[in-house]
Amino acid sequence: MTNPNNNMGKKSISIFEFRSIGIMTTPFKQKFGIPRQSQSISTATGTIQFSPDINPTNACRGLEAFSHLWISFIFHENIQGGWKDTVRPPRLGGNEKVGVFATRSTFRPNPIGLSVVKNGGLNEHNKLVVEGVDLLDQTPIIDIKPYVHYADSVNDAISGFAEFAPKKKMPVEYSKLAYLKLQTLVNAYPQLEALLTNILEQDPRPAYKTATKDDKIYSILLHNFDIKWQVRHTINYVLDIEIQ
Ligand code: SAM
Repeated sequence: MTNPNNNMGKKSISIFEFRSIGIMTTPFKQKFGIPRQSQSISTATGTIQFSPDINPTNACRGLEAFSHLWISFIFHENIQGGWKDTVRPPRLGGNEKVGVFATRSTFRPNPIGLSVVKNGGLNEHNKLVVEGVDLLDQTPIIDIKPYVHYADSVNDAISGFAEFAPKKKMPVEYSKLAYLKLQTLVNAYPQLEALLTNILEQDPRPAYKTATKDDKIYSILLHNFDIKWQVRHTINYVLDIEIQ
């Protein structure tokens, strides 16, 4: 880290500059459809390619003893978006405003995200595999720390409007066409069906859409597939899987 204000012995603590330590590759090619929190979809897997000056074997030595990790990252797609001091969290139906610091909003004074993920260890390409991610593909990672059970988990914590994980799951069905296409992809993408089902079960639509009749055809980009789906009655129905 460099502090550009630390000039001629004068110290400022207001502006800092961080470098990325690596880039995370995930199946999520657009923000729509990404889980709203880490750990909510275990089939959402990412890999971190470390920057060339970082030796993964050295920097991750001992990390294999920890089942979970904290990943700090940059909401790089939102950097131009600015921020407001109040936001409308989707969990409150998008109607109620709360302070930005009472939310996990991606529009923040500093666009830094923090996710707990499962540690899958370094793979044969010296990339760190992590499970349960909520990050866009190509997200810059700025730090990794082990999750420490005794210090990081608080048994009697109270979590305001986010006290409980959303329980309601939508049933998911596949058209014959989509199902047949999935079968041809099983060898190359063994997790694709489970991942897509998990995403659609959580209903990624904005809250206001879930309350009204909705016949829109939605698109989710996963890997290099454009997945078309629609709500039919109370079912999320996959129409087609197009290769991009
Ligand atoms: N667990 C993190 C946290 O609490 O800081 C992230 C929570 S945030 C609500 C998760 C959402 O961030 C995802 O659903 C996706 O829409 C968005 N997101 C993920 N990676 C991003 C990126 N690199 N740039 C902008 N938005 C991103």
